[in-house]
Amino acid sequence: MAKKQFQAESKRLLEMMINSIYTQREIFLRELISNASDAIDKLYYRTLSDEKMVFNQEDYYIKVTADKAGRTLTISDTGIGMTMEELENNLGVIAKSGSLAFKKENEAKDGHNIIGQFGVGFYSAFMVADEVTVISKALGSDEAFKWESHGADGYTIVPCEKDTVGTEITLTIKENTEDDQYDEFLEEYRLKAIIKKYSDFIRYPIKMDEKGQRPKEGSENEFEEYQEEQTINSMVPIWRKNKNELTTEDYERFYQEKRYGFDKPLKHVHISADGAVVYNAILFIPENTPFDYYSKEYEKGLELYSNGVLIMNKCADLLPDYFSFVKGMVDSEDLSLNISREMLQHDRQLSLIAKNIKNKIKSQLQSLLKDERENYERFYKSFGRQLKFGVYNDYGMNKDVLQDLLMFHSSTEKKLVTLDEYVSRMPEDQKYIYYAAGSSIDRIEKLPQTEMVADKGYEILYFTDDIDEFAIKMIMNYKEKEFKSVSSGDLGIESDKNENDTNADDSGNKDLFEHMQGILAGKVSKVKASKRLKTHPVCLSTEGEVTIEMEKILQAMPN
Ligand code: ADP
Ligand code: MG
Repeated sequence: MAKKQFQAESKRLLEMMINSIYTQREIFLRELISNASDAIDKLYYRTLSDEKMVFNQEDYYIKVTADKAGRTLTISDTGIGMTMEELENNLGVIAKSGSLAFKKENEAKDGHNIIGQFGVGFYSAFMVADEVTVISKALGSDEAFKWESHGADGYTIVPCEKDTVGTEITLTIKENTEDDQYDEFLEEYRLKAIIKKYSDFIRYPIKMDEKGQRPKEGSENEFEEYQEEQTINSMVPIWRKNKNELTTEDYERFYQEKRYGFDKPLKHVHISADGAVVYNAILFIPENTPFDYYSKEYEKGLELYSNGVLIMNKCADLLPDYFSFVKGMVDSEDLSLNISREMLQHDRQLSLIAKNIKNKIKSQLQSLLKDERENYERFYKSFGRQLKFGVYNDYGMNKDVLQDLLMFHSSTEKKLVTLDEYVSRMPEDQKYIYYAAGSSIDRIEKLPQTEMVADKGYEILYFTDDIDEFAIKMIMNYKEKEFKSVSSGDLGIESDKNENDTNADDSGNKDLFEHMQGILAGKVSKVKASKRLKTHPVCLSTEGEVTIEMEKILQAMPN
């Protein structure tokens, strides 16, 4: 039996595609500019293999022109252009990508800067335009052709005039309707913003005419109209520059330009990885907590670029929750994009990058702790809680990553100390890492329960954050030392003083204790003699895992 080809109602398919692939209309400009950049790239690769040709950097650019009155937006390039056949094949066949074919042919010749691959981006123009006209003249051809379409009803191609090699795409922008606004795509400032957002690092200049008024020379109140050609994009991304040529100020400027935060970052890291996965990244550890940081509104994530083109504003998969404060970007050529290029297929490359980044952040924080203690403490004041949540969440799975980064106030040092510092100071006879929980350092200091431990000369960690004790329960022990609350029944301390003191023995005071227990029925489970007190007559203690402070927190939590 002869095999039949699938038929497609191409009109409907086009309509469905245009309206379902992209979540944002403004993407059309990114797509057309990316195509223009690919076209210049192709011409560039051609010159590499053709001795008769020279590639004059200044001759290659992309120009965006808006005509408000005529409602047209034009994107022109000085790239390789298209022949009639190419117009037919590339713009007349949905999902046909001339760029992908080019990339495959030229694999060996470093064709990896080419962006196109799906053969659908061009049609995104119909999200904002009623009519699209493409005038193109291919390299090495004397003729130019005009491709024209109103979208679903097909297209025409006719010969036309064009002086220079390249392509000029003109969109007739749709009229505003009650529900949909299109006028913005004719506004200079808006177009500039879209170009900056998505196409800032396209390697060729994207130019626009800036029109405006300025004071006439030599006059104070007379103005003149002017028009000037401006390059909108920065072209060379900072992350492709050589680390050694960049200063801290360069990174700080980038942080500010990108509006990652209003503060100055405490630390930055610039990664150029070319191992199992190739990517560039610039990451920042901010100083201040964003106002919404500890709320549901806060969205973690890094900017994700593919070949210098912005794909996602906040790629959450690149950061673990406990490092959600990190800002920055990642650029990689190795990503599997989905067709809209707004999302990624969940792939191995991405999880490799994420893992890599996680380790980098950890070592940055460790070096901050080691070499810039004051800065680390500033960082810890802003984001320490998040690290502790990180230890507590996922059943303590991440404690190995995080435990060395934790700090608590120390009773003897009177400042924040790490667990490692605590353990290294422990006298030989000290069995446990002692801690005391309370609402403030002041209050903990007055707790009778701390007396005995303090009297022994042992250091006590003060837990003033709700999460502290819960996090510590997940760590269980650090360097083989278990944690012990000063209010727990068995402190593991031999008390010399009371050892032979029969008065402190339960048996001698049986009647008294039973009487007290009767009065306090329902409030305490047992009254007994304590060996831990020095100046205080009485204290509360707990048996088992849950301490008094934890109980308070658990009871305060909504059910
Ligand atoms: P993709 O860019 O993913 O290949 P598009 O739908 O954006 O898909 O474009 C389809 C094809 O049309 C491109 O692969 C390219 O061959 C051709 N093309 C589009 N725009 C231009 C242009 N400005 N200059 C030259 N060729 C172009
Ligand atoms: Mg494209």
